[in-house]
Amino acid sequence: MSWLQTIFDRFDAMRIWQQASCVTLMCVVAADALTLVLYSVFFTERLLLDLVLTAVITITVAYPISYLFLTKTAVVAKLAKELDMAATTDFLTGLRNRRDFMRIVSELIDSGSSSAGAVLFIDVDHFKQINDRFGHAEGDRVLRLMAEAIKQSVRGEDIAARMGGEEFAVFMPGAALPLARLISERIALSCRLVGSNVQAQTVSTTVSIGIAMHQPGQSLDAVINEADMLLYKAKQHGRDCVMHQQPLEFVA
Ligand code: GH3
Ligand code: MG
Ligand code: MG
Repeated sequence: MSWLQTIFDRFDAMRIWQQASCVTLMCVVAADALTLVLYSVFFTERLLLDLVLTAVITITVAYPISYLFLTKTAVVAKLAKELDMAATTDFLTGLRNRRDFMRIVSELIDSGSSSAGAVLFIDVDHFKQINDRFGHAEGDRVLRLMAEAIKQSVRGEDIAARMGGEEFAVFMPGAALPLARLISERIALSCRLVGSNVQAQTVSTTVSIGIAMHQPGQSLDAVINEADMLLYKAKQHGRDCVMHQQPLEFVA
């Protein structure tokens, strides 16, 4: 029942005192309705006074009780939201984490019989050197900027995630190879720009990218392995390049 869900959604969006007021109002209406029914049968001469008394008693009892329980419910709802965030988000970059990436992409892959799209595996080149030269905290800042660069380079429907360390992945639903290459090159360019200001110095922040096209019927693990293998090949071929199943393609 969508109208009932709409009412619940509006209720959830209210502040606690507003929720408690709503619950109390409902209790008053229900109590007075019941009083009306019973008293109209038994004590018609006292009806008005008793309606008022019923309302006062109900407000006194229902408001504090509903406020107390609604406060508890709100705390539980907030905790559930935080837990959900923690389970699906990478704490450093704010991108999706590996688990959420795998969950969403496997659902997309399982739901169709045709090619689901392209998987991009991205690894920052020689990232250890940034940590070694500028410290771990600066390395973290660079990783956050790289994540932002990736996020800004992909389409709205693409799924970007930090897979761990200095490795990222993007799933592009429905994309063919030319588009996957275009987005990869855009990612490579914007990642390179991150290195123009690392503690007032220009450092190399290039990435290597492996692109695997999902084949109909192929499992998620298989397509990810392929992207990983192509990324490894990109590293072997000197880094700072994009590799896919077809002949080598250098970005720089
Ligand atoms: P390659 O081009 O072969 O990928 O070289 P690389 O230095 O990027 O790769 P390597 O695997 O040797 O080193 C990865 C480095 O990433 C080592 C590790 O300390 C660093 N790293 C992993 N996670 C984090 C993180 O969360 N924050 C920071 N600052 N560094 C991280
Ligand atoms: Mg790596
Ligand atoms: Mg690396």
